[in-house]
Amino acid sequence: QPVKLNPLMQMHQDAADFYQQILLTTKIGERGLNYARQRELDDELLKHFKIGYAPDRRDLLLTYLKEQGYTDEQLAESGLFVQTQDGRLFDRFRDRLMFPMSDETGHPVAFSGRRISDNPDEPKYINSPETSIFNKSDLLFHFSEAKKHARKEGHLVLFEGHMDVISAYKSGIKTGIASMGTSLTQQQVYMIRRITRQVVINYDGDDPGIHAAERAVGLFKQAGSFDLGIVILPDKLDPDEYVKQYGAESYQAAITGAISTTDFFLLRLKKKYNLNNEREQVAYLSEAVQEIATLQNPVEQDLYVGRLAKETGVSLDALKMNLSRARRRQR
Ligand code: ATP
Ligand code: MN
Ligand code: MN
Ligand code: MN
Repeated sequence: QPVKLNPLMQMHQDAADFYQQILLTTKIGERGLNYARQRELDDELLKHFKIGYAPDRRDLLLTYLKEQGYTDEQLAESGLFVQTQDGRLFDRFRDRLMFPMSDETGHPVAFSGRRISDNPDEPKYINSPETSIFNKSDLLFHFSEAKKHARKEGHLVLFEGHMDVISAYKSGIKTGIASMGTSLTQQQVYMIRRITRQVVINYDGDDPGIHAAERAVGLFKQAGSFDLGIVILPDKLDPDEYVKQYGAESYQAAITGAISTTDFFLLRLKKKYNLNNEREQVAYLSEAVQEIATLQNPVEQDLYVGRLAKETGVSLDALKMNLSRARRRQR
């Protein structure tokens, strides 16, 4: 039998249904639907992700939810409205494509709204403020759905934003989750760890994305015993843009080609140094060997050191000597 939701959660369910009805069936929603089509969101995706449209009106949702019998107090504490000095409520989300964000059991507890106009004075995304049912540091977009698929697939894929999760889903990768623009938290890492230790990080290919990926790797390493893969997309693309440009198959190949955190580290390290300069090459090798020394598995250590030798022309013996020194220091 259906579980009775607490009123704020029921309100979010009602709001999500309302916004989706507007998007899919109304004249005023056509603007939202046009934008959705521009983003290559078909009806199946719109329904799976319960995407909707909040028209450019101040009290459309307000009026609807009042009709449903919600009290002013409930409305005020829902986060769905902004309150003026004199206490009046207005719809928080206006002229935005609406993405419900659900808790672990799949019930919407907040929204993220994507600006449709190209007015740069408006923030591109607005999220619900934190409420009694929404704590942004322990919510992951699409988590309740992705964890079902993770059982079969074995891994989860971590993205920056919802459009990336959605485009990945469209390409057949149904295990996508996102931390919603805010940087990944330790709580979210623990949520992930309860489902799987295998995580692929696929943040945007631009500099902020790469730095966020480095930071995320640090958080996962702190929590311990994760098996991580990193995907760096070319030309600063984000996953959504990549799928649009290169298609689903190419994107799947990119995910399959995720590199290890060691390779990710070495790749980043190499960019810091001018390897034509011998002093810099020595510094590069020393940092690289220190990283390799942190690996627990001697076979892995051997593999990376072997590659480093081949790549730089430095003898394997010398590198191995450095490696055992670095290992002794780390103990
Ligand atoms: P889109 O594809 O819709 O143009 P984007 O890929 O440009 O978005 P990014 O700037 O890469 O978005 O940001 C990544 C994610 O961060 C977004 O998907 C969104 O979840 C979140 N985000 C971005 N800007 C904001 C903001 N101003 N407020 C809150 N969250 C934001
Ligand atoms: Mn970005
Ligand atoms: Mn992006
Ligand atoms: Mn994008």
